[in-house]
Amino acid sequence: MSHTVDTIIIGAGASGLFCAFNVASFGKSVLVLDHANKAGKKILMSGGGRCNFINRQVEPRHFISQNPHFVKSALSKYGSDDFIALVNQHHIAYHEREHGQLFCDDSAKDILDMLLKQCQDFGVGIHLHTVIDSIRATDDNGFVLSTTHKKDGTTTTYQCQHLVIATGGLSIPTLGSSGFGYQVAMQFGHTIVPTEAALVPFTFTDATGDLIKSQAGLSLDVIASNDKISFTLPLLFTHRGLSGPAMLQLSNYWHLGESITINLAPQTDIAELLLSAKKSHPKQLVRTALAGILPKKLLTALENHLWQAHKDTELANLKDDTLRQIATTLNAWTLKPSGTEGYRVAEVTRGGVDTHDVSGKTMGSRLQPNLYFIGEVLDVTGWLGGYNFAWAWASGYACAESIGMK
Ligand code: FAD
Repeated sequence: MSHTVDTIIIGAGASGLFCAFNVASFGKSVLVLDHANKAGKKILMSGGGRCNFINRQVEPRHFISQNPHFVKSALSKYGSDDFIALVNQHHIAYHEREHGQLFCDDSAKDILDMLLKQCQDFGVGIHLHTVIDSIRATDDNGFVLSTTHKKDGTTTTYQCQHLVIATGGLSIPTLGSSGFGYQVAMQFGHTIVPTEAALVPFTFTDATGDLIKSQAGLSLDVIASNDKISFTLPLLFTHRGLSGPAMLQLSNYWHLGESITINLAPQTDIAELLLSAKKSHPKQLVRTALAGILPKKLLTALENHLWQAHKDTELANLKDDTLRQIATTLNAWTLKPSGTEGYRVAEVTRGGVDTHDVSGKTMGSRLQPNLYFIGEVLDVTGWLGGYNFAWAWASGYACAESIGMK
């Protein structure tokens, strides 16, 4: 069997579906191929099932890439207001949470249904269960794809003039992720910025790990930072390590072997509190002076872990420097994660197709005519808060406009 269309998009995820109906809206024939049994699996899982589909404020600073200017053009062409208008047009109910995050009121399925309806309305074909065996560029700068149907083993040849790679990153392999997009990129001479799990919880070994596990379930508002960035957000202690928005955001900026710093009591200058308590209540213990600043169970665990030698000494008998050191352990608790929970749970993949060889205006390859990369497969990683979908929509749109206008 063989099919000929103008544009083939590999990957029926967020960026692929969005790009597909936008290309088709210019009157081009479009086919989306995916090896999974269902389109948009990650969308369904997103935002805890409610899909944080965009953020009210999307700016280049919300993205990480070795080429930080790359996102600017696409984000300026298609922004939050454009996507919100589409959501309104489909009468999808949504609400705003802190930091401008927009979520569906009912279900992430509303967003997937919207994308599928748009694809249907513009006549986009979606072929699932389709394994791409090979891709070959033709003399007229088109492409021939050989595929096998996963269920019945039938082989099909597809021909197209434009090929869009929208296969996403490596996170959560059970949702269809594969390194296929990177392989295609390398086949056509592109380089790959090394990939790592991102927006992912940290793990810890040794005594720190035990302390953290002992607090599983506890959530605190903290300032989490490293030498690159800082976030004021909730931290969650779990049985596996440290999670919650503060840690997920910081993980985007972390590499193995680096330390992170957590201010466990951002509202309180603990050194000032302890030094003044030493004067006003010299017989107090550190834990008594700190009661009410941190949860008791955490305070006890930290005391045993960080200042055990001084825990039963009255403030009057502790040197000012010792009190300052104790304070630093709380206002700037420095930890070295042993790793992260990895791709199994990571929301995104950092790294990917090097954007230096891709046009930021069209998402087109600078190395192979009519080849495009969109979404997470590129070396563009968004913050937590709807920014990764923002990139899927913006990059998908820039690509669609470029193909459509040809
Ligand atoms: P994907 O949506 O991952 O789509 C890639 C598609 O390519 C898949 O359908 C896959 O089956 C297909 N594919 C892969 N390999 C092949 C192959 N070899 N052959 C054929 N097809 C292939 N971001 C937000 O902005 N807000 C959120 O609320 C949010 N929540 C998330 C929750 C979870 C649990 C996860 C994992 C991610 C979340 N993200 C969120 C991130 C967001 O889902 C992704 O960044 C986004 O889906 C990337 O879009 P994409 O089109 O590039 O890739």
